[in-house]
Amino acid sequence: MFSTLADSLDKSFRDLRGVGRLSEKNITDALRQIRIALVEADVEFNVAKNFIERVKDKSIGEDVLKSIKPGEQIIKFFQDELTELLGGDQAPLDLNPPARVLICGLNGAGKTTTSAKLALRLKKEGRRPLLIACDLYRPAAIEQLATLGKQAGVPVYTPDASETDVVKVAKDALAWAENQNGTVLIFDTAGRQEIDDKLILELKRLHEFLKPKETLLVADAATGQQAVSVATHFDDAVGITGIILTKLDGDARGGAALSMREVTGKPIKFAGEGEKLDQLYEFHPNRMADRILG
Ligand code: GDP
Repeated sequence: MFSTLADSLDKSFRDLRGVGRLSEKNITDALRQIRIALVEADVEFNVAKNFIERVKDKSIGEDVLKSIKPGEQIIKFFQDELTELLGGDQAPLDLNPPARVLICGLNGAGKTTTSAKLALRLKKEGRRPLLIACDLYRPAAIEQLATLGKQAGVPVYTPDASETDVVKVAKDALAWAENQNGTVLIFDTAGRQEIDDKLILELKRLHEFLKPKETLLVADAATGQQAVSVATHFDDAVGITGIILTKLDGDARGGAALSMREVTGKPIKFAGEGEKLDQLYEFHPNRMADRILG
């Protein structure tokens, strides 16, 4: 996903490495190129600008300019700042009981698939996850979760087709869960093509009732800037605790992933990299930074 960005960075870094002694001008020129590469890769403009300012402030220190390999040092600063931008340390899930995870996001972002992927992950860790279908608008979504749950070997609560109140479904699901002996409850919610008041109101009611430890936004990394604004909207409405970025296996520019943490202040906890149920990975900022830097 980051190949275009990685190529542009590689070129700028080669320029930096190629110069024996660096002047302030060399550094400014190289960092300007890098900023352009970031914005072209879909990184939000101010995020890219501030990021480059931070690398520049560190790089223009006396010691760096006098050091033997100033280019290498600047690249190291870049890598450190990129790791920081992506969130620093890996952010774990809060699964203290009662462990409830609310999955939200737009239609097609990958909520249902990701709910099942997460359940499979937790099961492999020795927990007893349960899946709860709360999308009352699309019967197909309920069926899809039932099918995926079966594949993952995880019990699924499926509401009646006539049910219209999501809080009632959640209540019934909690009663069902008592008998299932589950330790983590994952609620897959309804999405929309875009954010609207009805969706947010329903989600707020469900959130208020469940008081989940984790409210995770599933965002399609390929949607670029839209993913960032969607995250901000959901965060304002219900207070998300983290983000799961999906479709990182795609060929989009991927810069949204780089802006998400900075803009929302919420960590990216997992990354989806394929349609299969075992293709959900913990998001490690340092590993992602290494990947981007090639
Ligand atoms: P929902 O509407 O948000 O519940 O989205 P779905 O879970 O139905 O996913 C929409 C489509 O995206 C499906 O075809 C999924 O298989 C696909 N999908 C989900 N996550 C990923 C991912 O990480 N990579 C790829 N390539 N496809 C994904």
